[in-house]
Amino acid sequence: MTFDLSILDGFVVNTSDVKKYSIYVDNGRIVKISKSRYKAEKKIDASDHLVMPGFVDLHVHLRDGEEKRKEDFYSGTRAAARGGYTTVADMPNHAPAITNRKLLIENMERAKKAIVDVKFYGAITDDNVNTFNEMDDLTIGHKAYVDAPSTGGISLSYENLFKALFSLRKMLVLHCEDKATIESAKEKYKEEVDPRVHCKIRPPDAEVTSVREVLKNLISCGLTDTHVHFTHISTYQAAKCVRKAKMYGFNVTWDSTSHYLLLNEDYMKQRGTIVKMNPPLRKEEIRKELFNAFLSDPFPVHGSDHAPHETSEKQKDMWHAPSGMPMLDHGVNVASHIIEQYNVHPSFIVKAFSYNPSRLLGLKDRGIIALGRLADLVIFNPETKEKIVPEILETKARECSPFLDWEMGKTAYTIYRGNILVEDGKIII
Ligand SMILES: [Zn+2]
Repeated sequence: MTFDLSILDGFVVNTSDVKKYSIYVDNGRIVKISKSRYKAEKKIDASDHLVMPGFVDLHVHLRDGEEKRKEDFYSGTRAAARGGYTTVADMPNHAPAITNRKLLIENMERAKKAIVDVKFYGAITDDNVNTFNEMDDLTIGHKAYVDAPSTGGISLSYENLFKALFSLRKMLVLHCEDKATIESAKEKYKEEVDPRVHCKIRPPDAEVTSVREVLKNLISCGLTDTHVHFTHISTYQAAKCVRKAKMYGFNVTWDSTSHYLLLNEDYMKQRGTIVKMNPPLRKEEIRKELFNAFLSDPFPVHGSDHAPHETSEKQKDMWHAPSGMPMLDHGVNVASHIIEQYNVHPSFIVKAFSYNPSRLLGLKDRGIIALGRLADLVIFNPETKEKIVPEILETKARECSPFLDWEMGKTAYTIYRGNILVEDGKIII
């Protein structure tokens, strides 16, 4: 028999080991993993390369619709493929926000131009707290911004959050920053113009207070089965609170992003509002604590929080520039950087970037290299570097990358359902 594709002699990485094997693909699935050679229509020489399950991102903003000037499903998923992502989950703070079935279906229609798999969240807001379940069969979960106005102008009060918790049937992803803490800090620092003031007006306490408040209520109501996921955690204290609740039997999880793991607030001196995001970058000692908590967590999850904006908007002053950065292009860049600079085992990358996110999203057919699983794969050698310049990026927000001028490991191949999307760092379809 002749297979569709063979990936020969790579270091195949799974959640606990790395072994040299060849992988054979047929009809978009992995059908043989072997040390022997078989015939195939197409061959990839993966020797000296890591072969991982395609990255799965549970937190992206692909814009489109009224904000397609910033990004659309085509450009955003091309960026994803460049970064080694084969599945991404799109957040619902579109313009307008995805708060009902009709808007969700329209959004899914726009997503047909995507080149990798896109999953969808529905928003829970103060306005749809009694009806959000109507989107359940089309989504992988819900997203809410607790007690805080966000991009897209959607917010959920603590009171309505607790109402929603009782009717949840799917994972609820929460952005946690306490409004009262932010408002009082804003008043205190309102005259400051240095971009780093953004870090002062959204202090670590804002996140920790909000996470504690949610957990306190979850625990007091005894909701052990309700799955609450705390996204883009930027402090060790907040991560510790989630881990403790998990230890006591609550179904709670957390993720962090590359920006909190690799960058600190001093980087704002250099890149200004380009690296403005919510929550903001933290001091170096907080970054280090978080990175260690991430590495030692039994269930590490990385999300990119890809949040593109136009360059002209990002160049506004600190008080007016929008928050968020384009991150999807950098999946392999970041994974290589973590392996190389922090001496992290490649299996950890598979857990944090592929296996655990796919488990959270309920996708059992991916996130691991095994027989019968989807042939969604990313191949790279962390030592083969590229210089990050806007021209090589696929996002529409290419000028706003936080990693411009960095030298980082490059994607050799991204394979989606057995088809090669990326070769030598470039999209080839
Ligand atoms: Zn986000």
